[in-house]
Amino acid sequence: MTDKQPGFDTLAIHAGANPDPATGARQIPIYQTTAYVFRDADHAAKLFNLQEVGYIYSRLTNPTVGALAERVAALEGGVGAVCCSSGHAAQIMALFPLMGPGCNVVASTRLYGGTIQQFSNTIRKFGWSAKFVDFDDADAIKAAVDDNTRAIFCETIANPGGVITDLELVGKVAAEVGLPLIVDNTTATPYLCRPIDFGATLVVHSATKYLTGNGTVTGGVVVDSGKFDWSASGKFPSLAAPEPAYHGLNFHAALGGMAFTFHSIAVGLRDLGMTMNPQGAHYTLMGIETLGLRMERHVANAKTVAEWLEADPRVEGVTWAGLASSPYHDRVARIVPKGAGALFTVGVKGGYEACVKLVDSLKLFSHVANLGDTRSLIIHPASTTHRQLDEAAQVKAGAAPNVVRISIGIETAADIIADLDQALTAATGKSR
Ligand SMILES: *Cc1c(COP(=O)(O)O)cnc(C)c1O
Repeated sequence: MTDKQPGFDTLAIHAGANPDPATGARQIPIYQTTAYVFRDADHAAKLFNLQEVGYIYSRLTNPTVGALAERVAALEGGVGAVCCSSGHAAQIMALFPLMGPGCNVVASTRLYGGTIQQFSNTIRKFGWSAKFVDFDDADAIKAAVDDNTRAIFCETIANPGGVITDLELVGKVAAEVGLPLIVDNTTATPYLCRPIDFGATLVVHSATKYLTGNGTVTGGVVVDSGKFDWSASGKFPSLAAPEPAYHGLNFHAALGGMAFTFHSIAVGLRDLGMTMNPQGAHYTLMGIETLGLRMERHVANAKTVAEWLEADPRVEGVTWAGLASSPYHDRVARIVPKGAGALFTVGVKGGYEACVKLVDSLKLFSHVANLGDTRSLIIHPASTTHRQLDEAAQVKAGAAPNVVRISIGIETAADIIADLDQALTAATGKSR
């Protein structure tokens, strides 16, 4: 490679991938090992003291998993990353060094349903809490921040409705209140958006989705921008004061911009154990090699299908932000210039019944609770993921009874459309 910063597709294939030092293997081997032999007792002591970087035990680090961390960090423009056992694990790992009992995170109301659940109830068991506000309203975000707030959290393209978050605005608010911004970039991927460019401190991913891209892995990643000053406010003692969980090390003083990454490995993975396995990392590395190509096709297909659906008399509305009718259309050029993603909702005339019939009549689409696959996927949130909510709450969450969520795959667009056409006929009794 030359001195020039390599392009996205070059990094997607080469970042983190050096020929194997032992065998010269071109592809990154799956290091299916739990432990690593120390050269001698002095080497072991240096590794445990973080005086030398190396491998100890695969709950902490593993060469295959490390290559994936390096690759995702490179694609997101971060200084380091930590791979985790799932996207949900990555969210806990992102919050873990920042929070303590009594602390809160200010989060967008428009989040993946599982994240709303994790933040509403489960994190309370750690003494943490979340305050949900409308992230289109800068004043509402600022008003929700109090002395115990330790982070601001949102998604680039919010689930399920294809809402584009104004990261420019949210990044400015986070800088103003002096708090780290955590952005879940799962549905955009670094191909469409790099949240660190908008001021994000940490970027989290469910690698389960587009990064792997074929529905074979459950995994997550936290990318560290390395840019946040953990020492300035006195609010982040785990990172910027002697850490009792690691023999009194002040991570920020000792490791500077790598404080979060090292803490997440040395304390987070060590004690929480939400580690990615080498096989999973391998599949995700293979997936990322074609991320740029796949996202290009995902977005092109989403445009073709969204435009076709919007013109269909059996359809009530399409939320893909690339459509001129979307209230978020003007954000596409600023936030996700290469496209508005491939996840959106479709309103179907005939309500709940028609939606259920549509889902049951599709043949190419898979009816699953997943997104970001090469395959086109569909789910009816009101009868599945958002079943527990009452109708008003479903509408507010973008999951009204007459709405299905679709994740457009990379099949031939005409086949996706043909499948939707026959299923809409079956669901509504009308042809186009
Ligand atoms: C799927 C998903 C998650 C959770 O990831 P898992 O890998 O399923 O734990 C978090 N955020 C978003 C936006 C997701 O789509």
